[in-house]
Formats: sequence, structure tokens, C-alpha cells
Amino acid sequence: MIAPDVQTAFARLRDMIGEANSVVPFTGAGISTESGIPDFRSPGGIWTKMRPIDFGDFLTSREARDESWRRRFAMQDQFGGAKPGRGHRALAALYRAGKVPAVITQNIDNLHQDSGIDPGHVVELHGNTTYALCLDCAKRYDLPWVRERFETAGGRSPDCPDCGGFIKTATVSFGQAMPEAAMRRAQELTDGCDLFLAIGSSLVVWPAAGFPLAAKRNGAKLAIINREATEFDEFADLVVHHDIGDVLAPFVAH
Ligand code: NAD
Ligand code: ZN
Repeated sequence: MIAPDVQTAFARLRDMIGEANSVVPFTGAGISTESGIPDFRSPGGIWTKMRPIDFGDFLTSREARDESWRRRFAMQDQFGGAKPGRGHRALAALYRAGKVPAVITQNIDNLHQDSGIDPGHVVELHGNTTYALCLDCAKRYDLPWVRERFETAGGRSPDCPDCGGFIKTATVSFGQAMPEAAMRRAQELTDGCDLFLAIGSSLVVWPAAGFPLAAKRNGAKLAIINREATEFDEFADLVVHHDIGDVLAPFVAH
């Protein structure tokens, strides 16, 4: 069913959530556009402006490492102060109410944690860009630490002082292995839910995009909230082509 307007969408969602025991949200970049972070595939999105640096290039090219840190700090200046939007806050309210055990996200912006969801209950399929890790010894580094060294060295990315490994944001780049524990946890949540909410994802990045279909196959209901149509709309029990913040806003207060 395609919800014709925001009110109908909210009413249908409220009923579906009311009837469900375990609601698992699966979020993409679209939930964070209200916070001022552009998504990848909308017109004007990051994708249309910059080719991503894949993991192989990061490992083999000093220039690619420097460039990826240069981009990261430019992003920090633009989006570093982003705050959770109505979509994040609505999911946090459902989490506090005990309806949502955890959120699966493709986002790397830390906004679900910032909205009050325990970090242990945010399953990040593509990692997190708000801190960095040494690729060899896994030591964690804060971004201001990396930035200071990057700037002091005239725009050269620092290596790990402990082991000499490359330091990279804790994100999963194209060509980099998916995090096993997060994939396993996402699968368990998907298998255990009776309502799966795909929110703000174009559902084209695999293997992440497999989860909505797996939920449906497993007998859960599927609702898709996304401004644009997705290839999975035909499988969904509810399809909402409206603004995420507008649709989820009434949940914020509850
Ligand atoms: P995507 O850009 O492919 O799709 C986002 C979808 O959200 C689009 O279909 C768009 O129409 C929709 N959308 C945008 N704003 C909306 C709104 N306010 N209301 C309703 N719909 C809205 O994003 P994706 O599917 O998450 O895949 C992109 C990949 O890029 C992800 O894997 C993620 O790791 C990464 N990414 C993350 C961020 C972030 O952390 N905020 C931002 C950009 C990209
Ligand atoms: Zn190291």
C-alpha cells in the first residue's frame, strides 16, 4: 500500500508499530538530510560531486590517504555540529518505549547515538566517521589528534605512533570488508523482528540492502519510508514517499 499523504502514513505506521512486538529500523542517509548532512544519491548529493576513495587506493597511495583526510576535515567544518533530526528523535522515543531493541544503520554520522540510543544498540554496517582507527593495531584515535598532526605536517596523514600502521576513519570504504560482528547482529535483529522499517535509504548498496528483503522473507512486515521510490517498494506492506521528519514527527513526543 502506498500512503497517499503524511497523516495516513503516520496513522498506518502507528497501527503497525502498535501491533508489533519488535520493531527494527534500518536507516540510510535520508534520515540525516534534515540535520544538514547531504545524502549520496539525491541531486546535489555527495556522490554527484566526489568520487569515493576506495580501500585499495587508501592502502596503496599516500596521496589518496592525504586526500581522504583533507575531505574528512572539510566535512567536519561543514557538518561537525549536526544534531539529530525528528527522524532520529522519533526512533529514540520508540527505543525508550521498549518497542525498538536496536537500530541498524548504514550511516556513519553518530546521530543515532547522539539522539540517546545506547551505542551498544546502534548496529553500524558502514562504521563511524567521528573517530579513527589504526588499520594494523586497531588503536583508536580522536579526530582532533589526527587533525593536529595532519596540519602540522602540511596536509600529510599521520601514521600510528605505536606500530606505523595507516590511520583511517572508522568507516567501511568501498572495497573494504564488512564488519562481521555488525553483520551478524543485524541478521539476528532482522530475523527476530516482526516489523522492519527501512528509512531514508535508496536500498541499492549491498549487502546492506539485503536486510529488508530478508525480514520480509522471514515473515516480518516491511514498511519503507523514502522520498523516492525504491526497487523494493513492491514487496512492502506500507510505502511512504514523504519527508521522514514530517512522517515520524508525531512519534517524537511519545
Ligand atoms: P542514499 O543517498 O543512496 O539514499 C538516501 C535516500 O534518502 C534517497 O533515496 C533520498 O530520496 C532519500 N531522502 C533523502 N532525504 C530524505 C528525507 N528528508 N525524507 C525522505 N527521504 C529522503 O543513501 P543510502 O541508501 O544510505 O546509501 C548511501 C551510503 O552512503 C550509505 O551506505 C552510507 O554509509 C553513506 N552515507 C552516509 C551518510 C551519513 O552518515 N549521514 C551520508 C551520505 C552517505
Ligand atoms: Zn597501530
